Amino acid sequence: MLTPKVIAAFSALTGHDPAGVWAAPGRINLIGEHTDYNDGFVLPFALPQAAYVAAAPRTDGRWRFRSVDLDETVELGQDELVPGSPGWHSYLAGVVWALRQAGHTVAGADVVLASDVPLGAGLSSSAAIECAVLAAFADLNGLGIEPLDRAKLARTAENAYVGAPTGLLDQAASTLCIADHALFLDCRDFASRQVPLAVTGAGLEILVVDTRTRHSHVDGEYAARRASCEEASRILGVPALRDVTDLDAALAHLPELIGRRVRHVVTENARVLESVAALDAGDYARLGELMTASHASMRDDYEITETSVDLAVATACDAGALGARMTGGGFGGCVLALVRAEQVDAVAASVTAAFAEASLGVPVTFLGRPSAGARRLS
Ligand code: ADP
Ligand code: MG
Repeated sequence: MLTPKVIAAFSALTGHDPAGVWAAPGRINLIGEHTDYNDGFVLPFALPQAAYVAAAPRTDGRWRFRSVDLDETVELGQDELVPGSPGWHSYLAGVVWALRQAGHTVAGADVVLASDVPLGAGLSSSAAIECAVLAAFADLNGLGIEPLDRAKLARTAENAYVGAPTGLLDQAASTLCIADHALFLDCRDFASRQVPLAVTGAGLEILVVDTRTRHSHVDGEYAARRASCEEASRILGVPALRDVTDLDAALAHLPELIGRRVRHVVTENARVLESVAALDAGDYARLGELMTASHASMRDDYEITETSVDLAVATACDAGALGARMTGGGFGGCVLALVRAEQVDAVAASVTAAFAEASLGVPVTFLGRPSAGARRLS
């Protein structure tokens, strides 16, 4: 809870109290990897970690952004809202820009930010700061913007202003999620539904293992996977791989490697739908099986895992997890393990020991309890 911290930092910067405090969380994807750009299904939930924003309007039409975490302050006027500007503050200036592009009037403001979403760990620290500041600007300017439209505006900030070509998953999760639920999101029409994910009530926890391994070739591999999916769609004559209904027939028309990529996407979409059904039925054992099957598919068919995440998943399952999988774009990052509450410490210790034995460094583990989306706190 960083509310006191942002309020104190705001007062130190401006000499007065903020008009309010807003927060928006990081997110993690329970299942449904590399399905988003195939018009498919994803199932993220919001993390307890969030970005907190204290803000108040200014009368001079300028925006001042301070990151307590980076100990940096940047001030901009209207003329300086230029897409493509480098730097962390672009994620925030981009929100102002996106709101104004959409025709909203946005008064100047002082904005102070602190976040406990780790940067660049694949937990979407960028969407957290965008969605928190968007909630702040919407309230300060009395803008009645629907939650899904808020998510779209935050994505516009990241795509068009920062210049990062991301889908809507991160911002939709950060904006729309509610506690003890996952967000079932259809990436074709952005229809969504809250699915119960009350793990603690079921005597379970979602253990997040940040392997702290990140590979520099991720962007190129991501582009290559996307290109394979687009090529497969062309060969198969479907708008997107979401539309493949007969996998065996499709595989008969595809080269071996592209066929395996397609098999991942098609089976992963099916696993998301099955996970939603399992959660609706409170069947966590089935969810665990689907998570582990998802990991195998990412490892063998989509080929986006590597040693550290494979080891974390195998060790967690051996130590008693109901299931485990890598989450996020791939080639490192975080693993999720569905674990009985009383086994959390033992599973975490097993993974840490296995990493030490394999000289993979010390992973960071924490509980991923499904939490609330963007909200005003005071
Ligand atoms: P991810 O969203 O997976 O954490 P990104 O590269 O998309 O990684 O976003 C990380 C960037 O977001 C950081 O490099 C920084 O520019 C910005 N950012 C995130 N959190 C903060 C923060 N607390 N203060 C300042 N900038 C932040
Ligand atoms: Mg991001």
